[in-house]
Amino acid sequence: MQFWKRYHELRPDELAEFIESTPIAFWPLGLIEHHGWHLPVGYDGIKAERICIRIAENTGGIILPTMWWGANGGHGDFLWTHYQPEEATASILVNTTEQLIRFGFQAIVLLAGHYPWQGILTKHIPPVQENHPDILILWGTEMSICRDDIKLRGDHAAREETSYGLSLFPELIDMNALHPGRDASAWPKGDAPPLEKRHAGVCFDPNHPLFGQMGEDARTASVERGEEGIARLVSHLTETIDRHLDGS
Ligand SMILES: [Zn+2]
Repeated sequence: MQFWKRYHELRPDELAEFIESTPIAFWPLGLIEHHGWHLPVGYDGIKAERICIRIAENTGGIILPTMWWGANGGHGDFLWTHYQPEEATASILVNTTEQLIRFGFQAIVLLAGHYPWQGILTKHIPPVQENHPDILILWGTEMSICRDDIKLRGDHAAREETSYGLSLFPELIDMNALHPGRDASAWPKGDAPPLEKRHAGVCFDPNHPLFGQMGEDARTASVERGEEGIARLVSHLTETIDRHLDGS
């Protein structure tokens, strides 16, 4: 198993020494958002960080503090959801990536657990890559960061995300929480948003066990289903990083 460290826990001399041998940075891009009754509200960021750690166990590297303050999505009316202005999020994304390059990282993984990060990355990262053609920047969600035969399927807190969670952090998931019995107090003001504000495909009934979800029934999720996809993604990204740093 390789050596990985958390960026913010290192002293300057330790960082300089570490980057000399292992110039790889992982930045999990997350969000705080309602993810059904059974998953933590930080699901997207936790998922991204745990996948980054799995890759770093193979390649070595530095894990940045998770970027929790993302933008956009279909759950803005739900309790516990924080969406920021897209410009604010994009500015932090680009500035930090440029800084990492300036500090000597040669491979940078921007792994987004929250799918609407995709639009922000697509718009803002290609110009950074053009300015730094020698740096490997891998960016996207688990559905887009690699080629078609490797990429994972996505949903919102439903069968796929729940399976990834069961594989990566079962200790934070409570499948028994998927039961009816909640009332309108599940909404910030005690009222469900008007029909025209509801994102298509998302369950807006708090009394329903699948409240907040979009996709196949989360109760059909399994560790095996999640682990199969995660393992495939981790080994592909490991090979991509190793190949770049070997210069082949
Ligand atoms: Zn999610």
